[in-house]
Amino acid sequence: MKKLDTICVQGGYKPKSGEPRVVPIVQSTTYYYEKASEMADLFDLKAEGYFYTRLANPTVDAFEKKLAELEGGVLGIAAASGMSATLLAVLNVAGAGDNIVASRSIYGGSYNLFSVTLPKYGIECRFFDPDDSEEEIDKLVDEKTKIIFAETVANPTIVVLDFDKLSKIAKKHKVLFMVDNTLVTPVLCRPLDFGANIVIYSSSKYLDGHAVALGGCIIDGGNFDFNSTNRYEEFLKPDDSYHGLVYASLGKTAFGVKCRAQMMRDLGAIMSPENAFLTNLGMETLALRMERHCENAKKVAEFLANHPKVEWILHPSLKDNKYHELSKKYLPNGQGGMMSFGVKGGSEKASEFMEALEMIAIVTHVADSRSCVLHPASTTHRQLSSEDLEAIGIKDNLIRLSVGIENAEDIIDDIKQALDRI
Ligand SMILES: *Cc1c(COP(=O)(O)O)cnc(C)c1O
Repeated sequence: MKKLDTICVQGGYKPKSGEPRVVPIVQSTTYYYEKASEMADLFDLKAEGYFYTRLANPTVDAFEKKLAELEGGVLGIAAASGMSATLLAVLNVAGAGDNIVASRSIYGGSYNLFSVTLPKYGIECRFFDPDDSEEEIDKLVDEKTKIIFAETVANPTIVVLDFDKLSKIAKKHKVLFMVDNTLVTPVLCRPLDFGANIVIYSSSKYLDGHAVALGGCIIDGGNFDFNSTNRYEEFLKPDDSYHGLVYASLGKTAFGVKCRAQMMRDLGAIMSPENAFLTNLGMETLALRMERHCENAKKVAEFLANHPKVEWILHPSLKDNKYHELSKKYLPNGQGGMMSFGVKGGSEKASEFMEALEMIAIVTHVADSRSCVLHPASTTHRQLSSEDLEAIGIKDNLIRLSVGIENAEDIIDDIKQALDRI
């Protein structure tokens, strides 16, 4: 297998003689075939090819293949956004009466999906604290559990996932272990290497890397045997909407094929060809960028840790960080560009600090080339009281910082002058 940085540049697309060297944007909903039988074979999944962009498109395909190769999975299914990737992956295995067991420390949108929206459709979510013991989390799993869900690095509390702990529970019960790897990317960690079965992405973050294209992706690890358990009945019985296909009989690609054939067909939350093109282009420099994000973040974290106006700072690169040891095991090549810290003086001083920044911008986005900050207490979480915030681990002086790929000295200088002014 090629190295990850090579796959970032070369993966997913290999032109034939005379074809464009760069993945072209195939801006077409439909595809031409000479014979009706050719199309029929595609519909029956007997042949591989394109017939309608809701199900497959060559530009999107190149992106899916590249990411699947980077993750070591068997196939990828691109989606319109990270949220739709999570939704499709969940609905592919869970329905009314089922439950999912998820870490409480996950992306806010996923938390809302699991805690508010999915219950309306009869899917219950049982949350655990990432620091809970194996026994405590194990107790949440029952015969209706379809997924154990967590994030490799969760923000803004910057929790590093204990893969072994969750993977043991998942293996014991033969439940799918699904991991959102958005904030570290395969360059820093490949969840499939640590027992995950499905990897979820918001490609809107580091994969695109330039904050230009929304997107998501589901990677099927191909490492879950649906025939080994009765937990996933739908995989064991014929799908009447697909000529009686029994998905478990497909072996390694069961999850992915069902997700495309059923979920994409019926829900249609596809990634557009143009967004796939932009994301693919961004991914060519992913390995280089991640290196710089990590290097910069480490320097910024050290600076903040030693600044008298900073009350606390969370980044796994710091030796006294709660997740430093876990990060050595799962993120040995860098811990990503995301960190949180608190300035002394509470919410007010946090706002003052952010407004004093000159280069680093206040935006809701994270994980792109430009450094940015957000103060959840006065923006995304402003409807919550200080007590509510504390309960979900967000202090009112918490500033979320996404360290970009500018020169580290300039990032630190900006932070320094802003701290000097408060
Ligand atoms: C942003 C994000 C999502 C949601 O992705 P969208 O592309 O914005 O829909 C999901 N998970 C994580 C970890 C994220 O950072």
